[in-house]
Amino acid sequence: MARLGPSLTLDTIVEALVIGAGTLSGVSRLEQMCAFACMSIVVNYIVFMTFFPACLSLVLELSNRCSSGQPPWQMATLARAMVEEEKPNPVVQRVKVIMSAGLLLVHGITRWSLSLSSNTVTLMDNASFNSSTDPHVIVRLLDAGLDHIVFMVILVALIVKYVLFESQGQLEENLIHDSLQPSQDSLDNSGLSGKGILRQRTRIRTVSFNSHWEELAMATSKEDRGTQTEIPKTYIKEHGDEDEDKPPRSLEECVAVMNSQGGVRSLTNKEIVQMVEKKHVPSYKLETVLGNPLRAVGIRRAIVAPHTAKHGSMDALPYDNYDYTKVMGVCCENVIGYVPIPVGVVGPLLMNGKKYMVPMATTEGCLVASTNRGCRALVNGVKSTVIRDGMTRAPSVRLPTAARATEVYTWTRNRENFAIIKEGFDSTSRFARLQELHVGIAGRLLYMRFVAQTGDAMGMNMVSKGTEAGLKTLKKYFPDLEVLSVSGNYCVDKKPSAINWIEGRGKSVVCEGIVPSKVVTSILKTTVAALVEANITKNLVGSSLAGSIGGNNAHAANIVAAVYIACGQDPAQVVGSSNCMTLMEAWGEKGEDLHITVTMPSLEVGTVGGGTGLGPQSACLTMLGVKGAHQENPGENACQLAKIIAGTVLAGELSLMSALAAGHLVKSHLAHNRAKSGTSSPSASITNGGVPTAAATITTSSVTDISTNADSHPTGKAVVPAINSSTTSDKVEAFGAKPITNCFERGNTIVNKAATQKTNLPPTGVVIDGKQGDSGLSEKAVTSNMSPCLDPANFSVPHFSDR
Ligand code: ADP
Repeated sequence: MARLGPSLTLDTIVEALVIGAGTLSGVSRLEQMCAFACMSIVVNYIVFMTFFPACLSLVLELSNRCSSGQPPWQMATLARAMVEEEKPNPVVQRVKVIMSAGLLLVHGITRWSLSLSSNTVTLMDNASFNSSTDPHVIVRLLDAGLDHIVFMVILVALIVKYVLFESQGQLEENLIHDSLQPSQDSLDNSGLSGKGILRQRTRIRTVSFNSHWEELAMATSKEDRGTQTEIPKTYIKEHGDEDEDKPPRSLEECVAVMNSQGGVRSLTNKEIVQMVEKKHVPSYKLETVLGNPLRAVGIRRAIVAPHTAKHGSMDALPYDNYDYTKVMGVCCENVIGYVPIPVGVVGPLLMNGKKYMVPMATTEGCLVASTNRGCRALVNGVKSTVIRDGMTRAPSVRLPTAARATEVYTWTRNRENFAIIKEGFDSTSRFARLQELHVGIAGRLLYMRFVAQTGDAMGMNMVSKGTEAGLKTLKKYFPDLEVLSVSGNYCVDKKPSAINWIEGRGKSVVCEGIVPSKVVTSILKTTVAALVEANITKNLVGSSLAGSIGGNNAHAANIVAAVYIACGQDPAQVVGSSNCMTLMEAWGEKGEDLHITVTMPSLEVGTVGGGTGLGPQSACLTMLGVKGAHQENPGENACQLAKIIAGTVLAGELSLMSALAAGHLVKSHLAHNRAKSGTSSPSASITNGGVPTAAATITTSSVTDISTNADSHPTGKAVVPAINSSTTSDKVEAFGAKPITNCFERGNTIVNKAATQKTNLPPTGVVIDGKQGDSGLSEKAVTSNMSPCLDPANFSVPHFSDR
């Protein structure tokens, strides 16, 4: 409202003035019409300024309460959408100008014609004595119908302008653009995006366009889908299946054809479907038996389609224009298509003196923008170092007795014995080099963690192969050793674990950067002190309190996942790879700058093998200059990728932490400014902390809360552990925060006036929802119409799903 209010008010005044001019025209009907128009403008304005925001707040409040998972209302989107709305629409602008001009014209013509007709009538009256005819009848007729004529002229002009001369293309373009917006802006699955509501408002304004709008949107989406997936009709001819219109031959005939020289590929698609359904050809072998992956994928879709939950559900899943040869036997089986994911880019990221543009594949809105802001803030660049490199595989083995198991354990700890195993291990690959063997013991079970360098490969296959060879060697010395599983979950792959956090897995990287104080204030919109404090409370204390392992960071997984997907890494390894500790300190002589580090002990990355060979993923690796095997120094590319990822994570951490710290400041300012303005109501002041005795639900429905309470529960609500009001002040102060000492009332709302001064415990601006505090006052939820919070500047970087 703060943003839209002034411009709306101005619009209303201008419109009222222009149309109001019509009330002075002297043409009675025009005067009436203008008066009504003025009234409608004023009513419209009042409704929009009062009723609309109230309803909006109510919907926000309700939607936040009802939601589970991510809050359905992404306030940043809403704010952005409102700003978008604010942008002038050229069509509307033109209509406004024409309407205004038309009204002025009417006004001018009416005045002129009135004075003319009165003169004419006087002249005519004089002349009528001398004339047998009565020419002024025509003038009177003209005079009576003048306002009609003027209206008709304007109407015709508008019709001519928009029907004949207006570029339909531009109009359609606008409509298409708008109709596509919601899907682009949709940040949640609920479909209740901020844009949605705004579109609803737009619909009310443009009722006449509604059907056209929807048709257009549908046509567009069909068109879009068709270019990617609607293959079946053309597919048959393209792939030489001329006989597709013929009914399929009998099963016996098809089997005979299959066993003849022509093989399966000489059957029609329908016949192959039949053969697969009757289990004469396994579906997973279609690519091999047909020798044409695209045809195989198309046929598999036809086989799968009747068994899906909804007819036509696969239509929007593309499968054409893809190089399946690189998928087969490497990346995926039973292929029915591919899921395109948008790829954004951040950078340049200045790392170790070189600039990188980092691709990120994500569907999480604002992630790329935020990380990009982090890169921008790293004006001095970052220094990234790989301190350890070793992929692991840990088989579980069993010995007849625990005593025998300890013998093996002791044997492996001897250097010479290790060298024997290493020889066996290293013989399996040019790149696999065993570095360590960590043995865990549990009774007569042993877990042997082989740690090896794997060149530029992520290395799971390579280490597994080497491990088998190492065990074979070991078995020569301990024939009673029984291998239970080549992976005994002591590796640990794709599961949270302390061992990877402590010992490392893959690449262990440390990355640091120094952000000058000016940049902290100008780009990150916060202060070094606020950042350092937010980092301690969130990433260190908060994570410790949660018992997190490897989770001392804000959202490392967001960046790791996005770069992994873009660069063909194994997305499941985000589990261990996003282990990260983010640290921040005040830096420089006066502590005016910020020193930030991320320590990531288990980045499991590779630039050869797996998904790295697929075209688009390979292109992303090429963007970073780390594609494939490093020719001179095997392993260099994979290490470089790990360093880049750590640098990007650092940028992401910096930006999100800044948003959180800045949000804290905004809240504090808000509370302090309001306190100064003296709006508090003494009757509503809550002493003794004002925190309820029972566990209180703190709604994060207000914009302030959403943007700043990054630790809120995914449902958008955070639960404060029971705090006994009698000791509230002490407890809160024990955490370094000043208790809430008073509140002010706004309607049914009670809002904290004094912000916590050291930490966000409890968060400033937070409102206790519907609980009865010790004060005896009924405390109700903030309806979130805090105008400063709707200013997009306050959430240039909104929250992420890290919370
Ligand atoms: P992973 O072990 O990560 O699963 P793959 O086994 O799929 O990876 O791919 C590694 C393969 O790539 C091995 O066959 C290896 O010989 C080959 N290769 C070629 N150049 C390199 C290199 N520079 N580093 C590692 N592996 C390489």
